[in-house]
Amino acid sequence: MGDAKQVKVKLYGRIILTGTIRLRTGLHIGTSKDTLEIGGVDGPVIRNPVDRLPYIPGSSLKGKMRSLWEKVNGADQNKSIGKDVTIHVCSKHDCPVCSIYGAPGEEATAAPTRLIVRDVPMNPNSIPSTVADYTEVKWEAAIDRVTSAASPRQMERVPAGATFGPMEMVFSIYMKEDVKRFTHVLRALQLVEDDFLGGQGSRGSGKVSFENLAITVKAGAEYAEQADDRFKGKSLKDLVAVQDELVKWVEGLVVPNGGA
Ligand SMILES: [Zn+2]
Repeated sequence: MGDAKQVKVKLYGRIILTGTIRLRTGLHIGTSKDTLEIGGVDGPVIRNPVDRLPYIPGSSLKGKMRSLWEKVNGADQNKSIGKDVTIHVCSKHDCPVCSIYGAPGEEATAAPTRLIVRDVPMNPNSIPSTVADYTEVKWEAAIDRVTSAASPRQMERVPAGATFGPMEMVFSIYMKEDVKRFTHVLRALQLVEDDFLGGQGSRGSGKVSFENLAITVKAGAEYAEQADDRFKGKSLKDLVAVQDELVKWVEGLVVPNGGA
């Protein structure tokens, strides 16, 4: 077990999870200003300024995974980071949340962050060319709670059916226990599938599924990529079903001597 006398940091290897994100319902991920406003206003989706394609910021996906994983673990919301926003931060090296997701912002942690989540670009061929700018505009009526007056507003969404990829997550292994810890990443992705990405989730937006998942491992002096057909082309459910096999396979590659 990792304990207080663990001082050296050794990177044993990395697990790389790739796949595709499919939108089951329209997705709205706005600019940071937009997503902080609870009610939402006329909002454009976030786009890559170079090719104008919508994308899913790695920080949005990772943030959602983290917040759901905090809830499952009942993590203390102990640090205020501004008006009405409180987050979990701690320095316990075996914290089930911080050991994977790290500390937000400039907080120092006892252990290196395990998980990196890359930005995920939209696949332009996943949307019919008749869809202008790859998005739909959804009209919604905001109802004034006092006067019952309705005021229509616009919300730009990437339509259901669009796919984003390649999704790439990189999980670093610093101790043998980290290999099992990777299964908590899969659990967090299951939580996201039952929740939503982006804004307007309680109104139906942002349902996603993770598809065509594949695991590769890089480890050892060569740091060469290794793959196994058992962990390729999987749905999330199918990958979770073989996670014990996966842990054994990765441990054999990354910590063959038990991480000594
Ligand atoms: Zn923590």
